[in-house]
Amino acid sequence: MAELRNCPMCDEFFNYTGLREVCHKCALKEEDMYQVVYRFLRKRENRAANVDRIEEATGVDRDLLYKWVRKGKLHPAVFPNLGYPCDNCGHLTTKGKLCEACQGSLKSDLRTFEAAKDFRDEIVNRDRGTYLADKRKR
Ligand SMILES: [Zn+2]
Ligand SMILES: [Zn+2]
Repeated sequence: MAELRNCPMCDEFFNYTGLREVCHKCALKEEDMYQVVYRFLRKRENRAANVDRIEEATGVDRDLLYKWVRKGKLHPAVFPNLGYPCDNCGHLTTKGKLCEACQGSLKSDLRTFEAAKDFRDEIVNRDRGTYLADKRKR
């Protein structure tokens, strides 16, 4: 089902079919830019280029680069210095929503939380144990 939408890039109306978020013209433009970036990155000496370098060399907006990395159009396994910003701290990451540092601290937060919970459970159990023991003594 087609629906009329505003293209977020040029503000023109276009038929939204669920395939593209931008109009036909902008999709072509985006594809052109992708080809420029891809041609740039394909050169051996540019393989390790980071987002700053690519933006400078190709004039392509970094938001588009991030989008392509997210979508897997530019693969970090092939281009090791590419990534997109972590949802939490903005550092570049290549998988998930958070960078490794944030994932790490999230995990340790969780561990602290679980450790605290274990500790509380232990106290509850111990109290109950003492209570039962007291009861048995009587
Ligand atoms: Zn457009
Ligand atoms: Zn982060």
